[in-house]
Amino acid sequence: MQILRTVNELRHWSRALRSTPGNTIGLVPTMGALHAGHASLIRAARATCTHVAVSLFVNPTQFGPNEDYARYPRSFDADCALAEREGADVLFAPDVDELYPNGPESTFVEVPGLANRLDGASRPGHFRGVATVVAKLLIAAEPHRAIFGQKDAAQVAVLRRMVADLRLAAEIVVCPIVRDPDGLAVSSRNAYLSSSGRAQALTLSRTVGCIESLVAHGERRAGALAAAARQTFAAEPEVRIDYIVLVDWSTLLPVETAVPGTLFAVAAYVGSTRLIDNTILS
Ligand code: AMP
Repeated sequence: MQILRTVNELRHWSRALRSTPGNTIGLVPTMGALHAGHASLIRAARATCTHVAVSLFVNPTQFGPNEDYARYPRSFDADCALAEREGADVLFAPDVDELYPNGPESTFVEVPGLANRLDGASRPGHFRGVATVVAKLLIAAEPHRAIFGQKDAAQVAVLRRMVADLRLAAEIVVCPIVRDPDGLAVSSRNAYLSSSGRAQALTLSRTVGCIESLVAHGERRAGALAAAARQTFAAEPEVRIDYIVLVDWSTLLPVETAVPGTLFAVAAYVGSTRLIDNTILS
């Protein structure tokens, strides 16, 4: 596996491959601290593309001023080992100046509307940062496919819209949420949780399971489903709900009635750790 540090190196790698018919490039954007969720994306890229690049960049512009940018877990050597084991050909790990040569407050990509919903409402500027960095990566790597996790379902909606609006060529591929055996969605931020916090964090996946089961039994009213979801949190007063929503997955706007494809999403704080989970209703 090659480790590339500059946009030009990534661009040259991609262009050389694209000049040979039949080659396909998959890009897996990450912030590192790689875990089983990231591994599943790399495997999905490996299964559908001839060449795979994993990017590893803790993107400062998607963190708010009081968020965890400085203490976000960083584990470069372990990340290299995981990416190589899962079959990445390239690990792209630029520094901040390489992706933001004129500083973080320069040219950006804004996705109107969607970027201010769900996590974008709770974390102003977050999706602007995400859209900007993913646009930079897609322009540099020119992948045939870019692979993301359903874990960040609102992010997927924002990026799908951005790719459509900017007429970028990459196909957005979405992989299922990888969970620990007890149901907790795997996340780099789970490392922040104490053992009691980890037990409280299970409220999110329990809520997701409860909503799936209510829908399976015929409940379709979004208000009733949201109320039931809030009820599951009542047993864990130390877990603070950020949002509980049922929305259309492409617009992130609230629905009154759940239909196949409706996104049920939840975000909550366990102590100071913000966690998210979701399901696409069937
Ligand atoms: P991050 O490093 O947290 O920015 O995540 C990089 C990518 O991995 C995003 O597309 C996430 O949605 C995806 N991802 C994170 N956690 C999971 C998970 N538990 N299952 C599947 N994909 C995930």
